[in-house]
Amino acid sequence: MATTEKRDYYEILGLQRNASVDDIKKAYRRLAVKYHPDKNPDDSDAEEKFKEAAEAYGVLSDSEKRERYDRFGHQGVGGMNGFDPNQFADFGDILGDLFGFGDFFGTSRRRGTRAGRGNDLRFDLELEFEEAVFGKDVTLNVPRIVTCSTCNGSGAKQGTQPVTCGGCGGRGQIRYAQGFFAVSRTCPQCGGSGKVIKEPCTSCSGAGRIREEKQISVKIPAGVDEGSRLRVAGEGESGVNGGPPGDLYVFIAVKDHPKFTRREYDIHSEEWVSVTRAALGGEIPVQTIDGTESLRIASGTQPNQVFRLRGKGVQFLDRSGRGDHYVHVNVRIPSSLTEEQRHIYEQLAAIEGLPAGENKGVFDKVKDFFTAE
Ligand SMILES: [Zn+2]
Ligand SMILES: [Zn+2]
Repeated sequence: MATTEKRDYYEILGLQRNASVDDIKKAYRRLAVKYHPDKNPDDSDAEEKFKEAAEAYGVLSDSEKRERYDRFGHQGVGGMNGFDPNQFADFGDILGDLFGFGDFFGTSRRRGTRAGRGNDLRFDLELEFEEAVFGKDVTLNVPRIVTCSTCNGSGAKQGTQPVTCGGCGGRGQIRYAQGFFAVSRTCPQCGGSGKVIKEPCTSCSGAGRIREEKQISVKIPAGVDEGSRLRVAGEGESGVNGGPPGDLYVFIAVKDHPKFTRREYDIHSEEWVSVTRAALGGEIPVQTIDGTESLRIASGTQPNQVFRLRGKGVQFLDRSGRGDHYVHVNVRIPSSLTEEQRHIYEQLAAIEGLPAGENKGVFDKVKDFFTAE
C-alpha cells in the first residue's frame, strides 16, 4: 500500500509541541485564510494545504485527541480517520471571528484619513413647571469639542503644514501581501492619519480640536415634559477630517410644582371648600396655569369629588389644543366654631334629630353654669 509520509501536525501549523489552545487556533486561522479554496480557485496544492491544516487543527484543538497524538503519533488518532470533517463546520465560526477583526483587514475603519461624523452630545436641562408648560427660549452653554480655529484642524503650528507620513506614504495603513489577502495595519508612525506634525499648533497641542463652551440658543416648545428629548441638528461635536458634526440632544427634566401635578397633558390640583359650600354648591376660585378661574361646584359636593376645567391643561406638543385641568375638591370640617355658628349647627342637629350640645367645650360648660339662674 503506497502511502505518502504524513506531516507532523505541529509542523503543519508551525507550532511547538507545548503550544497553547490559543496558539493553535491562531495558527489555524492564519493558514485557513491563506489556503481557503474560495480564495485559491483551482489550486490543488492550496486545497491540500487547507485540508491538512484543518486536519491538524481538528486533532490538536481536541484535548483528548491531542493527548493521544502526543503519545502515539498519527496511529493514536487513527491516521487519516483522525480527520473529522465536522471541523469544516467550525471553520465558519473561525472565519467569522476573523472577519470581526476590522482592524486586521483594514475594513470598517473609522480612523485614518476618512471623514468621520462628530459625536452627538447630551445636555441635561431642568425647567420650572411653568417653563415646560409654556415653553421657553434658552441659551445653553454647551461644553464640546470643536475644530481648532488657530490651525483649522490641521494640528500644525501656524505657518506650517502637516507633512506626509514617511512610514506609510500618507496612506495611514501599512499593507502586507499574504497569499491572496492583503492585510492592512494602522501605521504606527502617524496613527492612521497619513500625516505627521513636525511643529504642533500651540492652541490645541496638535490635536486639531479643542474643548470649548459654546452658547447655543434653543427654543423649548410649550408642552415638553419630564423625559422629553429635543434634537438640535449639527450642534454636536465637530466631525473629524471634514466630516459632518454630530447632533445636540437636550434632555428635559421638570421640577415639581407646589400646587399642580401633571399627567401627560392634564393638570391636577386640589382645592378646599367649607362644609357649607360643599352642601350649598356655588362658585369657588381655582388656581390654574392661566391664573385664577371660577369653578361652579354642585350643591351636595362630596369630599374628593373631581371637576374638570376643559382645555385648561397643557398645550399638546404634536397638535393644536390643550389638555384639561382636574380639580379635586376637599371639604374642610371647621376645627372651632363661633357662638353663632354653634347655634346654627345645633339647629341643624335638632333638624337631624341629634341631641344638641354634646360637643360643648369646657368654656361653654362654665358659661352655662353662670347663666343657669
Ligand atoms: Zn490647533
Ligand atoms: Zn503613517
